[in-house]
Amino acid sequence: MPLINSPMGGSFAFPQPLGALDLPLIVKTSVGARGFCGFQGCFFRDRPMDTVRIAVVGAGLMGLSTAVCISKLVPRCSITVISDKFTPDTTSDVAAGILIPHAYPDTPIPKQKQWFRETFDHLFAIANSAQAGDAGVCLVSGWQIFRSIPAEEVPFWADVVLGFRKMTKAELKKFPQHVFGQAFTTLKCEGPAYLPWLEKRIKRSGGLMLTQRIEDLWELHPSFDIVVNCSGLGSRQLAGDSKIFPVRGQVLKVQAPWLKHFIRDGSGLTYIYPGASDVTLGGTRQKGDWNLSPDAETSRDIFSRCCALEPSLHGARNMREKVGLRPSRPGIRLQKELLAREGRRLPVVHHYGHGSGGFSMHWGTALEAAQLVSECAQDLRTPSPKSKL
Ligand SMILES: Cc1cc2nc3c(=O)[nH]c(=O)nc-3n(C[C@H](O)[C@H](O)[C@H](O)COP(=O)(O)OP(=O)(O)OC[C@H]3O[C@@H](n4cnc5c(N)ncnc54)[C@H](O)[C@@H]3O)c2cc1C
Repeated sequence: MPLINSPMGGSFAFPQPLGALDLPLIVKTSVGARGFCGFQGCFFRDRPMDTVRIAVVGAGLMGLSTAVCISKLVPRCSITVISDKFTPDTTSDVAAGILIPHAYPDTPIPKQKQWFRETFDHLFAIANSAQAGDAGVCLVSGWQIFRSIPAEEVPFWADVVLGFRKMTKAELKKFPQHVFGQAFTTLKCEGPAYLPWLEKRIKRSGGLMLTQRIEDLWELHPSFDIVVNCSGLGSRQLAGDSKIFPVRGQVLKVQAPWLKHFIRDGSGLTYIYPGASDVTLGGTRQKGDWNLSPDAETSRDIFSRCCALEPSLHGARNMREKVGLRPSRPGIRLQKELLAREGRRLPVVHHYGHGSGGFSMHWGTALEAAQLVSECAQDLRTPSPKSKL
C-alpha cells in the first residue's frame, strides 16, 4: 500500500476509487488537495466501496438544489457542497424569487418551458404542504403591466402559471400610464428561507458543507470523483468562461404588510413583490457592473418609481438596500466536461448562468444537472476503453 505525504504532513486513506480492484488505496493529496485534508474523515464512514464522491462547488440556489436532486437521483454517492459563501451571503439571498421567466436567447423555448413547469410544479407542491412556511414558498397574485401592447400578449409560460388572463379595463384604471396588462397567480420563493431549507435536506441525507474558496476545479482531484460546478459568476475563473458576466441588481426591502398584490412593469425594471416578511422593490439591471455597494441615488430612484405605481408605499417602513450580481449568459450552461491532466481525469458537470431567472428555472435545470451527474457516475462504475472516467 503506497504511503504518500500530504502537504499537511500526513497521509490519507481514501475509499477505493471506482474502477480500481481489491486493494485499499492511499491516495496522494498532492497538488491543490490541501483544503480537504480536514474532511477526509467523512470518507471513512461505512459507505459501500463503490460510493461516488461528488463535490458541488457553490452554495447558492443552483448548488443547493442540484445537491438535493443528486441525493435523490444518484445511488451510492457522497455529496460535499464546497463554497466560499453560504446563505445569507449569496446572490440568491438578494433575489425577490418570483417565478416569472426571463427568456434565454440561446435556449429553445420548449426547453425553457419544461424547466419552468418542473420548477413551478415542485414549488407548488411545497406551497401546498406543511413545509411552505419553513421553505419560504407561497402563492402570489398580481399584475404585469405595459406602457404599449407587447409583441407577445400571451407569453410561453402563460399556461404554467395559474389563471393567466388579460387585465380588465377596471383593473388598468389603477395604472393610468399603462395600456395593457396580464393578471395571474404565480409563486414566490424566498432565498433566505429556501436556501437553509435546502441545506437541511442535504445534511439530512448525509451531505456535508465546506467553506472553502476554490481557485481551480482540478484542486478537487483526487479527493472527489465528480465535480459539479454551480459557482455562478465564479465560473468566469473556474471554467474560464468569458460568456458569463454580471448584471447588477439593486433592490430595497421594506415593511409594507398591507400590500398583497405584486406589480411588475413589463420592462422588468420596476417591480413590487410582497413576500412573507417584507416587500421587495426593484430594481436595476446594470450590465458588466461588479459593484456590490448600494448607491443612495439609485435607491431614491427605485423608491420613486415604485411609489408611482403604488402610492401607499410612501408609508413603508424599515427600508434596507441590497445588491446582487446576476450570473448572466446568453444561455444556461448545463454540460459535461472531462478535465484531464497528466493522464488523470476528472468529470465535471457545469450548471450555471441563470441570470435574471434562476428562481424560475432552478428545479428543472437542477434535475437535468443531476441526470448528467448520474451519467458520469454510471461511466465511472462501468469503465470502458473509450471512457475511463
Ligand atoms: C436583485 C435580484 C433580483 C432577482 N430576482 C429574481 C426573481 O424574482 N426571480 C428569479 O427567477 N430570479 C431572480 N434573480 C436571479 C437569481 O437570483 C439568480 O439567477 C440565482 O440566484 C443564481 O443562483 P446561483 O446559485 O447560480 O448563483 P449564486 O447565488 O451567486 O451562487 C454562486 C455560489 O458559488 C460560490 N462560488 C463562486 N465562486 C466560487 C469559488 N471560486 N470557490 C467557491 N465557491 C464559489 C458563491 O460563494 C455562491 O455560493 C434575481 C437576482 C438579483 C440580483
